[in-house]
Order: sequence, then C-alpha cells, then structure tokens
Amino acid sequence: MRIASFVLSLALVGGVACSETLPTVAPVAAHDGGSPIEPTRERSASVAFDENGISEPLAFVVPPSTRSIAVVVEGEAAHLHALASFTMADGVELVGIDIARSHTDAMQHNYFTEQSGTMPGELRQSPRLGTFTHVYPYAPDQTVIEGTATLRVVRDAPFGAATVRVLMAPDDGARVLHLNLVRVTATEDLPADPPFLRELRRIFRQADIEVVVDEVLTLRDTGLEKIASMTEPQETSESDSVSLARMVGATTSTTALDVMIVDALPPGVGGLSLGVPGPPMPESYYYGVLVESGPDARSVARVIAHETSHFLGLQHVVNRGASGRLYLDPIPDTVDEATNLMAHGTELTPGQAFVLTRSPLLSTN
Ligand SMILES: [Zn+2]
Repeated sequence: MRIASFVLSLALVGGVACSETLPTVAPVAAHDGGSPIEPTRERSASVAFDENGISEPLAFVVPPSTRSIAVVVEGEAAHLHALASFTMADGVELVGIDIARSHTDAMQHNYFTEQSGTMPGELRQSPRLGTFTHVYPYAPDQTVIEGTATLRVVRDAPFGAATVRVLMAPDDGARVLHLNLVRVTATEDLPADPPFLRELRRIFRQADIEVVVDEVLTLRDTGLEKIASMTEPQETSESDSVSLARMVGATTSTTALDVMIVDALPPGVGGLSLGVPGPPMPESYYYGVLVESGPDARSVARVIAHETSHFLGLQHVVNRGASGRLYLDPIPDTVDEATNLMAHGTELTPGQAFVLTRSPLLSTN
C-alpha cells in the first residue's frame, strides 16, 4: 500500500485474552424507575476455528445511538485474520463469502502476492497477521443498525483460536483526537510546541476534529531511531516499527495515540501506520504511527495527518496491487488525487470526515 513517498503498514495488537462469551442482553434497562443503565458497549470472547479456518458465530447487541462497531481479532502472529461474516439486525450479510470452505489460498494470495491487503467478499477489510481490526461504517452510505448482530472470524489455517473484542462507541458527537508526540532520535529534542502542530491541527479541523496533545517527549538510546526495513502490505508483529511501538507504549502515560517521529525510515517511505484501521487499544503493539523527521514542518504535519488518518480508518484514494490492478477507496467524493490527504495533498472530503469521526479513538473532551 504505497503511494508517493508514503507507505503504511500495520502491526499487531497486544494480547488481551478474555474468555467470556458474547451474551445477548437488553441494551438499556430501567432500574427502580430511575435513570437507565448505560448499555454495554464492549464485548469480548474467545473463538475456535473449524477445519476451514472459520469460527462459530458470535452474537452481540448493538445499543441505540452507536456511531460505529469496531471488531478487533487477536490471533496467532503467523496467521492472517479477517471477518468471515457480519450481519446486523436487518439480516443483511455484509461479507458474503462461503463459510463452508477454506479461504486460505485467496487470503494468502491477496496479502503476500498481490499485496493489496484485501479480503474476498463484499466488505472492504484489511486482513492482518496476528491482530486484525475492522471499523464499520467505513463509507458514508453505511449505517449502524441497533439490535442483535452476529459475526464469524476467518483465518488462513485450520483450527486454532483467537480472541474477539467488539467496541460499540456511542454516537455522542466525539470530535477530539488525543495524540502523544514522541521524538525517537539520536539528535535533536522535540520542542514542547512542535512547529508542525499548527498545520496538523488545520488539516484535521477540515473534518471538525480537534487535535489535543497529551504528551510531548523525546526518547534517546532506543536503537530504533532509524527504522531500516518494513514489510508490505503491512508490518508484522516482529518488525522494528512494532518493537518501537511496544517501547513507546510502555513509556507514555496516557491512552492517546502514539505518533513516533524517528530519524529515518526506509528509503522512499515518509511514514507508516500500524493499522488501516489500527486497533483502538493502547495496550496493543500495533498502536501508533511512525513518521520520518524532516526540516519542513508542513510536510511533517501532512505525513502525520496521513498516517493517523490511516489508523482511524481511511484508505488511499487509489492503491495499486503488485499485479498493477487498482483498488479505489470506498468513499465516493474523493475524486481529486492531487489535493487529497490520502493521495498527494492535504484536503479531507465530507465523506472522509464521516469515516474519521466514526473512530472509537475520538472522545468528547
Ligand atoms: Zn498512506
């Protein structure tokens, strides 16, 4: 997933193993005639895969006023994971692949050979080694439907197990994005008011998103200030970028998304995201984006905004697979590659703003 000087990639989420099954419960209930109990907006369950690498179905209740459904699958690092099926209360199946057979060959071809990072079926998803993340909706014509939903998970190998977490963020108008700015360097410190921050804030303001910086810090002697290698289409759990994300995650003290500004990335790479989208889980080893430092503050701001937008769920306007096939983003109003943030510019369209503001990483303050 490479375009211009930008490359993105993902990484794995840390393993949080829970083994409660996904219960089907009423989303809101009154108690003692008083105020309603807040609906449960997080579910976690362990799943097992059959001989075709397909899990049993998981049911969960989508509460009213939910802005998005985020699914995080934490599985074995050596295997690709994705959704095999996904149905909300209207009964419409959104993936639409045959759950009675294996999809290993197609998953591995799309990832390792074509490097498109796509999954067979109707749902636009980014299969991932280890930890997989999907956020729905990812296009402005999609809506979340309250009531009972079900999903199945698929992986590129028979049997085995994974943990599935479902986060259903409320539709509360959340527009605040918290970032930690972490300079990873052998040279200069990051100033408390970095020169790129003004332009970064301007770019996200196009989507009515306010950037709040929780921490600004400089890390030295990490041995990871120059990242020399990366993998397509996304980073693995064993990559240097993920090693750095683990180190930074253990250093920062807030849940803000970690933006790691390094001295160097591989040639031709201005930045990379550890997820498209990334897991909305600060404990994850795929939690963060990396950007190469540079003298031009506006350029650094653009790359931070681009990679962070990947992490929140935006695709490139156009991706080119290894075969030369083009993969267009699912957002209809991203028509201008010259000016768009997810191509060569800094603009965000209303459709992209809709997708960004579905992210569970946004908060109300
Ligand atoms: Zn990119």
